[in-house]
Amino acid sequence: MCGRLWHNARAVGMPANDGTPRGWFSLITPVGGELQIEHCALTYDHASSAESMLRHGLPPEYRMTLSTGIWPSCDTLPYPEIRDRGVPLVPGAYLWRPVKPSRQRRRGQPIAAALLWPSKKPGARRLDARKFKDPDVTAGNEARAKVPLLALKTLWFNTGTLCNITCRNCYIESSPKNDRLVYLGVNDIQPYLDEISRDDLGTEEIGFTGGEPFMNPNIIELLKECLLRGFCVLVLTNAMKPIRRWSGPLIELKERYGHRLKIRVSLDHYAACRHEEERGVDTFAPTKDGLIWLTRNGFNIAVAGRAMWRRIKQLSAPDTRACLQSTIFRSMPTIRRSSSCSLRWTSASMCPRSRPDAGTSLGSRPPQ
Ligand code: SF4
Repeated sequence: MCGRLWHNARAVGMPANDGTPRGWFSLITPVGGELQIEHCALTYDHASSAESMLRHGLPPEYRMTLSTGIWPSCDTLPYPEIRDRGVPLVPGAYLWRPVKPSRQRRRGQPIAAALLWPSKKPGARRLDARKFKDPDVTAGNEARAKVPLLALKTLWFNTGTLCNITCRNCYIESSPKNDRLVYLGVNDIQPYLDEISRDDLGTEEIGFTGGEPFMNPNIIELLKECLLRGFCVLVLTNAMKPIRRWSGPLIELKERYGHRLKIRVSLDHYAACRHEEERGVDTFAPTKDGLIWLTRNGFNIAVAGRAMWRRIKQLSAPDTRACLQSTIFRSMPTIRRSSSCSLRWTSASMCPRSRPDAGTSLGSRPPQ
């Protein structure tokens, strides 16, 4: 980015979730002022590695991954990688040319970054569609493994994929143009809420994520419907302009339902430059303004960030709070004193909202 290239060559020994046991490495060769990057597959004795893992009592899921080439969990992956799970990668090469930094980027545009993995071979093997036809029986005619649902603690709704910005690692590739998931309406959620009471599922919380939930014209009705039924409601937002369109109705909801309405704001880093690496230029200040507004109006808020940068990873919980206070919260004395703001950090490079429950709560828990 900005004339610099960050290259992830993958890890030798860990398959690429492409359904083959191959590891990967890269060969980087300077060619004139450019760099040629070759993605090379590595075949190795994965059976011996798996045996060694067994001997040392390491987790069985990862041992199996070495031979199946399928990761045990896709929680931290962006949507395109989940979609292409099990599709064998094809070795290939890319010629990278340094890009001059431009001063004329628009708000919401990420700093130049691109996925440079070679494209899949046309006609590459996809997972067998018969695998997913029957919820009870596998393609090999065996009964599927099942886990009974004991309780549905939190029910998440996606309000739609449109977002006012385009983050680099958005788990669902939201943008001002992505309307793949249409806006959710009250009629869409009612049957699920009815089901919760009918089946006595013990659900305490209803979560809303997007896209940017406050872009959805029905958002206040959605929140009201859940709050009226006695649920706690959690909304994930970037706290930029869209939330401010609903200032009045949101304050009314807060006055009426108090701390049962919780707003979780995604703030990747306490430094503007880091936050904007992920979210695009001019995105830090509006989020900060949104946080100030939420705090001044006494909302129950949480801040969710990423701990992917080395400095944050090394910080202890009180240190992280201190960094936030000395940067973004400097102008927010109410937050500094407030016990109703909690902090959460995910260690993945993904947007915190991709794993709504991931992370560590570093702040005091707000009164419920
Ligand atoms: S990560 Fe969040 S704020 Fe960023 S584009 Fe995706 S939905 Fe929008």
